Amino acid sequence: MAKVLCVLYEDPITGYPRSYARDDLPVIEGYPDGQTLPSPKAQDFTSGHLLGSVSGELGLRAFLEGLGHTLVVTSDKEGPDSVFERELVDADIVISQPFWPAYLTKERIAKAANLKLAITAGIGSDHVDLAAAIDRGITVTEITYSNSNSVVEHAVMMILALVRDYIPAHKIAVEGGWNIADAVSRSYDLEGMHVGSVAAGRIGFGILRRLKAFDVHLHYTDRHRLPASVEKEYGLTYHPDAADMVPHCDVVTINAPLHPETEGLFDKKLLDTMKRGAYLVNTARGAICDRDAVVEALESGRLAGYAGDVWAPQPAPADHPWRTMPHNGMTTHISGSSLSAQTRYANGTREILESWFDGTPIRDEYLIVDGGKLAGTGAHSYSTAES
Ligand code: NDP
Repeated sequence: MAKVLCVLYEDPITGYPRSYARDDLPVIEGYPDGQTLPSPKAQDFTSGHLLGSVSGELGLRAFLEGLGHTLVVTSDKEGPDSVFERELVDADIVISQPFWPAYLTKERIAKAANLKLAITAGIGSDHVDLAAAIDRGITVTEITYSNSNSVVEHAVMMILALVRDYIPAHKIAVEGGWNIADAVSRSYDLEGMHVGSVAAGRIGFGILRRLKAFDVHLHYTDRHRLPASVEKEYGLTYHPDAADMVPHCDVVTINAPLHPETEGLFDKKLLDTMKRGAYLVNTARGAICDRDAVVEALESGRLAGYAGDVWAPQPAPADHPWRTMPHNGMTTHISGSSLSAQTRYANGTREILESWFDGTPIRDEYLIVDGGKLAGTGAHSYSTAES
């Protein structure tokens, strides 16, 4: 029987919800590329309920205990005295969400003698040392596509919020003011701007596809170029790398995974090549941007705004400068954890567990590391320091 260790974010400060703003979720038939939604044999929770916090338990307890497995759920994940580190020692499976990542470092993997499977309930497995997982033969999985469109919507919202300067204008309304000049002195239209995406995967391309309707000029860079027919349909200009793309852009959105190729990519040198007054939106991973270089670029006016929901580390300390830097539209890491997304990735987590316990193959698109190497989606989108 397996011990499953699940690290989830804390319940709401006011307690686990007893009611919700809406009664149901819209039915999504499938993802844009034809991939089907997670399809576990059963679902033991109500769609649209809070599943990602400790009391939500990703809706897994009845299923796991019904099979005789043990489920331990905690939000206490930092330091050697944490529940996570204590329970990890004999855990067979670890489940964690990127919003509240249980960092599976090389050292922790070395202590987890029984660990065979790490599931990211969401997308982005950079909180796992993939090279160490490869060495140990641990399978790493994530619920590919489960929250990609949730992030797409958040990123488009942030681009509009920054360019139109929505957040300060809203503040004026809430505070009883009516100085129109104050509210519009940094407000522009997105129409006609050049918008570039670093990566055109599920999220990056989803953003580009939606922004086409805003009559902007679209740019992208990616490790693999999109088909010429797609570039033509969406009017996309391809650039071989970010350095080639960003000087042309009024808005840049970052949508690549964090791995050795992208860590620290947006450093002072690259930021200095951006147009004065450009906007940068990063919903991918905080460590893709140099923390202090972003602050400096906002203070100097090189950047007119920065928004995103990803930080390094997470949770970010209360004094993290991105909380207070000028013209920021930051949120905590929430874009991929809407109630809609939670239902999908909770179902995907159960689907992976069902496959694992049944000894049937996990969908290729959910695999990041398997059989001692990058596999499935991981082989396409990630690299390790060695590769
Ligand atoms: P995909 O795997 O669909 O797309 C990732 C894309 O990044 C691929 O097209 C990949 O290229 C490309 N890429 C990888 N390395 C580079 C590089 N060095 N330069 C340019 N492009 C690169 O994943 P998603 O779009 O679904 O998600 C992307 C990332 O967004 C996740 O890895 C995660 O970090 C983040 N995310 C954030 C969430 C949030 O809540 N804020 C939620 C979900 C995801 P190719 O495959 O062609 O090699």
